[in-house]
Amino acid sequence: MDDVTHSLLYPLDWHKTAWSALLEALKKDHLAHGLLIYGHHGVGKMHFAKALGYLLLCDQPQVDSVLGSLPCGQCNNCMLNKAGTHPDFLVVEPEEQGKAIKVDQVRELNHFVSQTSQMSGKKVVIIEPADAMNINSSNALLKTLEEPSGDTHLILVVDSLSSLMATIRSRCQYYEILPPTKEQASVFLRDLYPERNDIDVLVKISEQGPFYAKELVEQGKLEWRSSLSQGLMDVCSGKSTVEIAESWKSIDLLEALHWLDIWIRDMIVMVMTQDKSRVKNADLSDLMTMVESRQVDPRFLHRYREVLSEIEEATIKSHPNKQLVYDRLLIDWKKMLGA
Ligand SMILES: [Zn+2]
Repeated sequence: MDDVTHSLLYPLDWHKTAWSALLEALKKDHLAHGLLIYGHHGVGKMHFAKALGYLLLCDQPQVDSVLGSLPCGQCNNCMLNKAGTHPDFLVVEPEEQGKAIKVDQVRELNHFVSQTSQMSGKKVVIIEPADAMNINSSNALLKTLEEPSGDTHLILVVDSLSSLMATIRSRCQYYEILPPTKEQASVFLRDLYPERNDIDVLVKISEQGPFYAKELVEQGKLEWRSSLSQGLMDVCSGKSTVEIAESWKSIDLLEALHWLDIWIRDMIVMVMTQDKSRVKNADLSDLMTMVESRQVDPRFLHRYREVLSEIEEATIKSHPNKQLVYDRLLIDWKKMLGA
């Protein structure tokens, strides 16, 4: 079960609770057509949703002593799923990362659901992230979600339930994916990256969301993180804010706001408790030490977090000029540190 192809097909250790609940519903024939898979960013919800889709389509599921029913990996349906070419399996996601799922995509989905299955009689649709559907797309989905034609399951994947319209939520059965323990997260990441020696840091900074840790490693986000922390240090030793903001221009703004926020949280904990062992971003000790040595008032740190959250809200609604935002954040930061 440990080669790469297979690991795409099976739920992971920490998915057991949700998987068991689903199998129970399936056994009693209570599994709804609309399924909502939710949980903390990076816990592997999409991995879980795919494993579930493969199971639903599989002709002869095998029984595992720990996880219960699993897709067999050998029937025609499983072979097609492994190859990513199953005609009755559809994944709907934004055409561009971070953008909306358009109403036309939902119309195509509706069409797919209305067609007869080409293989086993069942069809599976995954919508991820489901909260990327805007009001029009969500409304276009309602009827299909309520009464999909044929034996179809629609699996909606989302970080937070509250980000979905109530009319969507009320038509689904919910399954929460809990985060792994620290141990489970490190085992997963060690298997994935045997050559890395920063697994403990990855587990901590991804807040036990190992798939988020994977994103950090594989999408260059760790480099963004270093560049941000270096910039915060440099501005206090006199480097110009404009120059640093320029060097940050390739960094995704929402990602930057997220990092700054969790660092400030760490700084508040450190300033209030003088306990460095409670700091999550332990690898950024230079930055933490600098803040500590400047005896920043925690009230200012709280205020800075508020500003970050205001900018986040504005960023989601519109597209502010990134460099101007970075410049402003750096100026505020410099002031706060009395530099
Ligand atoms: Zn199978």
